[in-house]
Amino acid sequence: MSKLTKIVMVFKRIILIFILFTGAFVSRPSLMAQKVQRVVIDAGHGGHDPGAVGKFSKEKDITLSIALKTGNLIKEHLKDVEVIYTRKTDVFVELHRRARIANEAKADLFISIHCNANKSTSPYGSETYVMGLHRSDANLAVAQLENASILLEDDYHVQYEGFDPRSPEGYIFFSMLQNAFLDQGLDFASRVQGHFRNHVKLYDRGVKQAGFLVLYKTTMPSVLIEAGFISNANEEKLLASESGQNKIAQAIFRAVKDYKHAVEKIPPPRYDETAAADVSDEQADTSSGNPGGGTASSVTGPATDQASATGLPVFKVQFMISKTEKRLTSPEFKGIKEIGFYFHQGMYKYTSGNENSMEDAMKIKKDLDKKGYRDSFVIAFFNGERISIDEARKLLKN
Ligand SMILES: [Zn+2]
Repeated sequence: MSKLTKIVMVFKRIILIFILFTGAFVSRPSLMAQKVQRVVIDAGHGGHDPGAVGKFSKEKDITLSIALKTGNLIKEHLKDVEVIYTRKTDVFVELHRRARIANEAKADLFISIHCNANKSTSPYGSETYVMGLHRSDANLAVAQLENASILLEDDYHVQYEGFDPRSPEGYIFFSMLQNAFLDQGLDFASRVQGHFRNHVKLYDRGVKQAGFLVLYKTTMPSVLIEAGFISNANEEKLLASESGQNKIAQAIFRAVKDYKHAVEKIPPPRYDETAAADVSDEQADTSSGNPGGGTASSVTGPATDQASATGLPVFKVQFMISKTEKRLTSPEFKGIKEIGFYFHQGMYKYTSGNENSMEDAMKIKKDLDKKGYRDSFVIAFFNGERISIDEARKLLKN
């Protein structure tokens, strides 16, 4: 293949990803879910795809059993939540179809359940993934293993635009995706890990990112759970046992309940004058040492924006979230332009810039990338409310 053909192919793919990315915004009026009313539970593998195989059990049977148990708990205890399964029996379902089921159902949360496997029998513990660029070869290997399911699909060359799940190069493209639901996915993932640790006594390998095909087209917060290692003797016993599956399902259910509670309890952000004044002081005199202002449910950043007051949207780059409040004068923020934060769904979200155009915000994102904040993404505000990029673009056109 000539160099030019390669470049053309790369560009085609970038454009395609861009279309997929922007398309994700069209289907929803707001980026931030305010309710958790529909949950899709995705039992990994099935039919002629057994997934990872242990000494005496198969991943596809374990995932189905945990999925059904989790769904039953949700239906029983969260009456206003509709549960949608991507499969309820031992059948093969293509990865792209699983995402489509969730998108068409306009689900608020997508939970893909899997078991981990390793050539060595020693690794153990659970990890929960959100879509993104892997930080280690081990995380890449997990995604490669799960994505290999598409090799069992009839037309995977067409469905995944020639993506080769075995080639590490293909995974770099996932770094270009700006996952609008990353915060919420991370939030839910850490709740899953917490309940696994505390109630199932599974070793916590952490919340991680990698390019999973089953997640990348979903238009809602979505996670992939590796509940434990089927390749480890102790964990296979746990994963394949009725009591182990009950505990795991219970933990996932608790995470759903907590997450739903967090999303629905806190009222949507509103303009808060007191908090805005605090932030202005902070920005005017960074040597004052006062912590940044901001109270629960206030949007502090946009309150300082002139553009917002003049009826134009404001673009910022979100680069960090934290459960605890950080001082805007903290040394870790050194060199970051026009830093601000807003409080949303129990998290402090830190932003850089107050730009009038997406292009200017992208320049800030590039700077942040260089500083090591590789998961940063552009967000938009209008009159103190966070809006989608699509909505912001429409406002600019008017
Ligand atoms: Zn799997």
